[in-house]
Amino acid sequence: MSVLMIDSHIDIPWEEKTEEGLPCWQKRDQADIALREAERRFTIPKAEAGGLGAACLAAYTPQAALDDAGHEAAWRRAGAMLEAMEEMVALHVSGRAALCRTARDVRQAAEAGKVALVPVMENGYPLADDPARIGHLARRYGVRYMTLTHNGHNLLADSAVVRQGPEEAHGGLSALGREVIGEMNRHGVLVDVSHASRKTMMQAVETSTVPVFASHSCVRALCDHPRNLDDGQLDALKVSGGLIQITAMGPFLRRGGGGTLKDFVGHVLYVARRIGIEHVGISSDFDGGGGIEGWQDASETHHLLKALEQTGLDASEIRALCGGNMLRLLEKAEEKTLECQT
Ligand SMILES: [Zn+2]
Repeated sequence: MSVLMIDSHIDIPWEEKTEEGLPCWQKRDQADIALREAERRFTIPKAEAGGLGAACLAAYTPQAALDDAGHEAAWRRAGAMLEAMEEMVALHVSGRAALCRTARDVRQAAEAGKVALVPVMENGYPLADDPARIGHLARRYGVRYMTLTHNGHNLLADSAVVRQGPEEAHGGLSALGREVIGEMNRHGVLVDVSHASRKTMMQAVETSTVPVFASHSCVRALCDHPRNLDDGQLDALKVSGGLIQITAMGPFLRRGGGGTLKDFVGHVLYVARRIGIEHVGISSDFDGGGGIEGWQDASETHHLLKALEQTGLDASEIRALCGGNMLRLLEKAEEKTLECQT
């Protein structure tokens, strides 16, 4: 079966130290994106070997202090990461991969036999209190989604996981967070509720004029972890037309960790049965902690396809959940930007 497989969440490795205190990703593993034998779980040869056609590559910024210095450092880091992505593709895998800004770009890259890479952001923290930064990220880098938070509250919203401080800072979205969602809708940046608190997520569904999605989360009914979505949240996603991308993170798949490919497929089928196959997809969180028995790196992506085929889902259902649903959502966001321009 020919299926365009899209992994909606992979981190780019990053090391944050140089003599000047500036990010120095170049010095480490920029070139290994082109290697089959590399430490990182996602490289272009690994994607080719596993039949992975496309991936969202995340510029991730850890949550730090909510002050000017913290915000500016995060903003610089996010920009440097997105630029490094461009450099990485141009210098090391230009014939085999392509940075993509639209669903159409993704399809064309796949048809040309290239791995399609979509730049995205993990954590809204680098925006500080400036919603206009969304437009810059979209125009300059082609960023197509952003998680509102990471672990820890930021100025936009409350997070599902709080390492220190109060359980809530805003009771969900802040006024700024709502404004940022408006900007995201205008600029074709999908609202990603992975890492967001339950209230944040439910309010985002109501606020966003484009369906929201969870780029890397699992099902709470099967594994009670705060990063997972409960049945009420799944039902809200369905109403919004959104999507949950089940992720290969052991502790989200099975209580106590150790989740396997079988558990992963179980989470996919649970969502499909509850809210429909058009609302579920796949993600690995490779190089951000993801990787499970049976799907340890991108070269094993065909194991996942095989496991899905063995469930009895038909070809069109498998195409939808492996990538079609994600492309549909990107297109929805693109339609909205066109509306906003007219
Ligand atoms: Zn994450």
